[in-house]
Amino acid sequence: MSIHLFASSFVRPLVASLSLAFVATLAQAQLPTAPLAPHAAVHALAQQEQQPLLDTLRDLVHIESGSKDLEGLAKIAALIASQLQQRGAAVEILQPSDVYRLDDTPEKVGPVVHATFQGQGTKKIMFIAHMDTVYLKGMLKDQPFRIDGDKAYGLGIGDDKQGVATIIHTVGMLQKLGFKDYGTLTVLINGDEEISSPGSRSTITRIAAEQDAVFSFEGGGATGALRLATSGIGAAYLTVDGKASHAGASPEKGVNALYEMSHQLLQMKELSRPEQGLKLNWTVASAGTNRNVVPAQAKAQADARALKVSDFDALEKELQAKVQNKLLPESRVQVKFEVRRPPLEATEASRRVAEHGKRIYQEIGLPLSVLSEATGGGTDAAFAGLKTRGAVVEGMGLSSFGAHSNDAEYVLIDTIVPRLYLATRMVMDLSSGKLK
Ligand SMILES: [Zn+2]
Repeated sequence: MSIHLFASSFVRPLVASLSLAFVATLAQAQLPTAPLAPHAAVHALAQQEQQPLLDTLRDLVHIESGSKDLEGLAKIAALIASQLQQRGAAVEILQPSDVYRLDDTPEKVGPVVHATFQGQGTKKIMFIAHMDTVYLKGMLKDQPFRIDGDKAYGLGIGDDKQGVATIIHTVGMLQKLGFKDYGTLTVLINGDEEISSPGSRSTITRIAAEQDAVFSFEGGGATGALRLATSGIGAAYLTVDGKASHAGASPEKGVNALYEMSHQLLQMKELSRPEQGLKLNWTVASAGTNRNVVPAQAKAQADARALKVSDFDALEKELQAKVQNKLLPESRVQVKFEVRRPPLEATEASRRVAEHGKRIYQEIGLPLSVLSEATGGGTDAAFAGLKTRGAVVEGMGLSSFGAHSNDAEYVLIDTIVPRLYLATRMVMDLSSGKLK
């Protein structure tokens, strides 16, 4: 199908309902040099791909894959690997060996599907999404995949099975188009995102470092906005060791860990810098065993948030310095800080790519918004952003709702065609160097 023919058939149904001015804009868009003509073959393919994508989504939802369900994760990884292989990728399933152990990291973490499409160009592009969910095994039977009107429901469908399906069908479209002008197109699908990616973070960071652009397919949210920044999540663990003694008979022989912890918490309660988005709040504490025993141990946890990677580094140093100042010199105080997820900061490169996304959306007559300020939770895009000079863009997935809600998680079917079009066209324009 030629672009001209397509543009004509695209314009006709719109003419009746739109103003003359807009029709004039569309008419101009048919000129070969104008940026607003929809790419006919891509748009037609995206439409053809909607139903197959829903079928893939059904298959993905019907494999339970909680972050700690290694059997389920192996099964879904095998399905994803074969889907990518069928579309021309060289695929390997990695079992993480370099695990960043967090407080809640299980003995074994889920695998990572690593697929590579070899092209004839120079640009390196990566797509990421995750296949694990927050749900426990056995919940699927009450909430299977179903379609109701313009919504597709299912556990984990929004977070993040839609991301996996959108990636599979985007690479499928590129294959059908015979498009190979990129250097490499890499797909990484991890199985431990919902437990803060202890096993996959180093792989995501390492491979992302070589890329010109990384696109993360978490849900696009209600507005379908692309996100260039996400907030970082950290945790601090304070441990105080004192010495037990009879609280009634000889308290002076003990070292009261609860007193020391209280002193530490009070001196570490003002470390937030709200004006720069750095927050530290102590939220959990415990001490002692019996009323009549001087407590020998006390523990506390804090939640930390930051918008800049360097803020977490500074906070950790500050915490380590603070614990040197003790109320009870004989106590032992330790603080451990863990980065659950670093913040993702908007960069010039990511702004440029997202701006181009707006132009691509204009080709199909849709607005696209871009958020450069962190709004909520962290994602794997932040690990991708740690060492790369390329663009990192989050929120490439379908509009989805009810993540982690345990009830009625769904995606909007109407967003499938625009998102497939966006991702496919983005690869094409990045590969051709059209986007500087
Ligand atoms: Zn997610």
